[in-house]
Amino acid sequence: MRYFDNAATTRVSEASLKAYINASETFYNPSSLYKQSGDIKNRIEEARAFFLKTLHGDKKSTFIFTGCATESNNAVISNCVVRKDKKYIFSAGEHSSVYEPAKKLQEAGYNIVFVPLKSNGSIDEDKLYHEIDDKTAFVSIIHVSNETGAINDILTITRKIKTINPNVLIHSDGVQAIGKVDINLKSMGIDFYTISAHKINGPKGVAGLYIANPNKFKSFLIGGEQENGFRSGTENYPGIIAFETAVKKLTKHDYSENKQAILNELNAEYILVSDDKCVDNIISLCFKKVRGETILHILESKGFLIGTGSSCNSKASFNRVLSSIVNKEYLYGAIRISFGDDVTLEDCRELGKEINNAVREYIKRTNK
Ligand code: PLP
Repeated sequence: MRYFDNAATTRVSEASLKAYINASETFYNPSSLYKQSGDIKNRIEEARAFFLKTLHGDKKSTFIFTGCATESNNAVISNCVVRKDKKYIFSAGEHSSVYEPAKKLQEAGYNIVFVPLKSNGSIDEDKLYHEIDDKTAFVSIIHVSNETGAINDILTITRKIKTINPNVLIHSDGVQAIGKVDINLKSMGIDFYTISAHKINGPKGVAGLYIANPNKFKSFLIGGEQENGFRSGTENYPGIIAFETAVKKLTKHDYSENKQAILNELNAEYILVSDDKCVDNIISLCFKKVRGETILHILESKGFLIGTGSSCNSKASFNRVLSSIVNKEYLYGAIRISFGDDVTLEDCRELGKEINNAVREYIKRTNK
């Protein structure tokens, strides 16, 4: 099988897996009082310091390890959306782990505003700034869209928001950004930032949350006071070490030729949602009058694994993010191709040809 669904998850790298297995052998509970445990505890603190340094965290900031990015995102929202007399702003392009909790809070009577997207899936910045006022307490904007690869310029956005209202807390979901775009959390002036190991060749079950000002954050898992008291529960030591290894091994790839190799082959009618302002490892394409899901399965039968959009959302009957930027004729024909570092140009050319065949087969089947 040739794998083109790296935005859904990635293969664990050999180095990360090795680190996981080695760390698993040191099985002691980090909170116990003997030396073996103390050593693990120190190693976790070393990993925390590494993440803060690598992401250029602010001096007083912290980074906590969580079980998944969904947990990090949920924790930020439940910490920040607390008053009904305040206003909370989200981009319409948020991942479901941000969007769904926000939607629930809106239904419960909180003043939640979703800001619309531009045609490539990035936030409409003018509409965003128009919404910021004295009542605004919190804004969440995904850094790189998991659907289209659109990059939101968090640095500029954060500066502008804080010029209008310096008290606004800003969160960004950086799950699809790390390893793809530069991240400097301090200069971005961001208050919260989410990353996840399994999107960068690390294991599943471990993620992180950057908190610029720990004094403005409350515990969200209460118990044994691990993770500086914010997130109780015995630390996932092997996961944390494997996550650290995954980040240490990150190298930026240029996938523009791979993207072009696929596009060069296509002759069916489609809209390319991912323009040149998007990261080049994600391609969102919408074919006219076909079903993306059927294309996915035809390609699967030919040995290619792709996505139709966010896999966390694959049960939804339509794609929420694309539905706001693509017209209905094309919406159901959405597919998402996302590259990993093992991709070859030849695989891309073959995938492009197979997509044409799949679209043709779909049209033939449905015209019978
Ligand atoms: N945020 C983004 C942008 C994602 O792409 C994903 C995964 O699809 C998540 C959050 C959720 O990540 P996790 O699987 O670690 O909960």
